[in-house]
Amino acid sequence: MTQETGGFAALGLHPNILAALTAVGYEEPSPIQSQAIPVILAGHDMIGQAQTGTGKTAAFALPLLSKIDPAKREPQVLILAPTRELALQVATAFETYSKQMPGVNVVAVYGGAPMGPQLKAIRQGAQVIVATPGRLVDHLRRDEKVLSTIQHLVLDEADEMLKLGFMDDLEIIFEAMPESRQSVLFSATLPHSIRAIAEKHLREPQHVKIAAKTQTVSRIEQAHLMIHADQKINAVTRLLEVEDFDALIAFVRTKQATLDLAAALEAKGYKAAALNGDIAQNQRERVIDSLKDGRLDIVVATDVAARGIDVPRITHVFNVDMPYDPESYVHRIGRTGRAGREGRALLLVTPRERRMLQVIERVTGQKVGEVKLPNAQQVLDARIKKLTSSLAPLVADAEASHGDLLDRLTADIGCSPRALAAALLKKATNGQALDLASVEREQPLVPSVGAPRERRERDGERSGERGEYRERRAPLPLTEGRVRCRTALGTRDGIAAKNLLGAILNEGGLAREAIGRIQIRETFSLVELPEDGLDRLLGKLKDTRVAGKALKLRRYRED
Ligand code: ADP
Ligand code: MG
Repeated sequence: MTQETGGFAALGLHPNILAALTAVGYEEPSPIQSQAIPVILAGHDMIGQAQTGTGKTAAFALPLLSKIDPAKREPQVLILAPTRELALQVATAFETYSKQMPGVNVVAVYGGAPMGPQLKAIRQGAQVIVATPGRLVDHLRRDEKVLSTIQHLVLDEADEMLKLGFMDDLEIIFEAMPESRQSVLFSATLPHSIRAIAEKHLREPQHVKIAAKTQTVSRIEQAHLMIHADQKINAVTRLLEVEDFDALIAFVRTKQATLDLAAALEAKGYKAAALNGDIAQNQRERVIDSLKDGRLDIVVATDVAARGIDVPRITHVFNVDMPYDPESYVHRIGRTGRAGREGRALLLVTPRERRMLQVIERVTGQKVGEVKLPNAQQVLDARIKKLTSSLAPLVADAEASHGDLLDRLTADIGCSPRALAAALLKKATNGQALDLASVEREQPLVPSVGAPRERRERDGERSGERGEYRERRAPLPLTEGRVRCRTALGTRDGIAAKNLLGAILNEGGLAREAIGRIQIRETFSLVELPEDGLDRLLGKLKDTRVAGKALKLRRYRED
C-alpha cells in the first residue's frame, strides 16, 4: 500500500523548504521521495531506481538544499544530467524549492551557451551547479579547481548519461571532486556499466527501489490519450462531452491543479468541485456527500484528499496527471467499477511519461489502448444525443399539458409549429453550438504532440505595436460599466469575432448581452466586457485558447 502519513514535514526537511513546497502545492511525498529523502539527509551514498515521472528531482533536491550552507559562497552540490533540457529542468526545480532560502544560488552549465557567464556565476558563489558532463569537463580544463569544494554529487538519469557516451567525462569529473563527498545515483535501469560505476565511486550505497508489484485490475475499461501538459484542461473538457458518465473523479498532482481544473469545469457548466488537503475535513465530507447524492458530478482531487472515497455512482476515473507508480494507478482506478458496475479509466500521458505507461501495462498485465481527442463531429453527435435523451421522455405528456398553449402561441405569433419549436430549442439550448460549423469553431484545434507551439505563442505576443497605433487613431466610445480588453490574436491568426465571442461565452460563462462590441484587427482584437467581475472573468479565461492559440485577454487601458 502507499505509504506513510506525516507528509513532507515528517521527513526532517528544512522549514524553509517545507514553506516552498506548500507554495508549489505538493501535498505529500511520492514513494521515491519518502524513501530517498531520509537516506540522503542522513548523508549516505545511495542508488535510487525509479521510472520517469516519479518525482526523482525533488527526491534529491529537497534533502540537498536542506544540507546546503547558504552562508558559504562556493559550489557545494553538483547535479549531472544527460541533456541540456534536463539540466535546465533540474536547475529550475532547485530554484523553485529554494525560493524561501535567501542566498542560495543555482547555475546551469551546459553546451551551446557561452562559457564565460557560467564560470562567472560559479565564481560568484553559486552553491548548486547543474551540469551536463561534456560542458563541465570543458570548464575543468580551464580551471581544475571548479569542483574542489563539492560535498554532494548526484548523477541523474545515469543510464541515459552512459548511453550518450559520457563515461570518460564522468571519470574526469569524479577525479576533480573531494573523496569525502556524498554521492547519489539515480537511474531507471541498472545495467552492468552503472553497477560498475557505483562500485568504484560510491561508498556503501543504500539501495532505494520502487518495486513494481503485480496488480490486479478488474472490470475497468482503460484507455490513454497522448497530450501536451498545457493542453490537459482543454482535453478533459472535450473528453467529457463524449464520455457517458454518471459521476467522475479526476486525479491531479497539486492543490493548485485541483482548483484550476475544477474552476474550468464549473465554467463549462459541470457540477464540479476541488478536493485537496487544504480543504477542512468537514468540508471534504460535504463534497463527498454531494458527489454521492448527485449535487456534484465531478470531483477533482489529489491522491491524499481522495483517500477512502467510496462512491458507487462513480463511473469514470480520469488520471489527468500521471500517478507516481502502478500501485497508485490501480488504487485510483479502483474508485470506479464499485458495486459490480462497469467502470472506465482514462489516463492522460505527456510525451516524457510514455515509459510509465508501459510500466503500468506490464504490472497490471493489461493493455491500456490509445484514444484520440474527439473531433467536432463526435462532439456534435454527443450533444445531440444528450438533447434527444433529455427531450424524448417529455414528448409523451407534453402535448396533453401544453398542446393548447402551443396552438395559442402559434396563432398569436402567426408562425408554424416548426418555427415555434425551433425557437424553443434555441432558448432551451442557450447558445450551445449544435451544428458542425459552430462546433468546429468553438473547438480550437489542439496542436498535436510534437508541434512547435511555443514559438507561435510568442510571435503572437510580440505582434501588437503597429496595430496599437491604428487603434489609438480611432477610439470608440465605451458603454457605461464596460471596459475594453485586448488580445494579441487577430485576423492573421485566423480569428473572427464569432470565435472570440464563442470562447468568452463558453469559458467565461457570460450571457451574450454582457459582451459589447468586438473589434478584430490584423494583429490584435478588442472586446468590451463588464467591468464588474472583470478579474474573475479574466481568471476564468486565463487558459483559453482560440484557433489553437493562447487568448491571453488583458484589460486594455484607454488614453
Ligand atoms: P522524474 O525526475 O522522476 O522523471 P520529476 O522530478 O521531473 O520526475 O517530477 C515529475 C513531475 O511531478 C514534476 O512536474 C514535479 O513538479 C511533480 N512532482 C514531483 N513531486 C511531487 C509531489 N510530491 N507532489 C506533487 N507533484 C510532484
Ligand atoms: Mg528526472
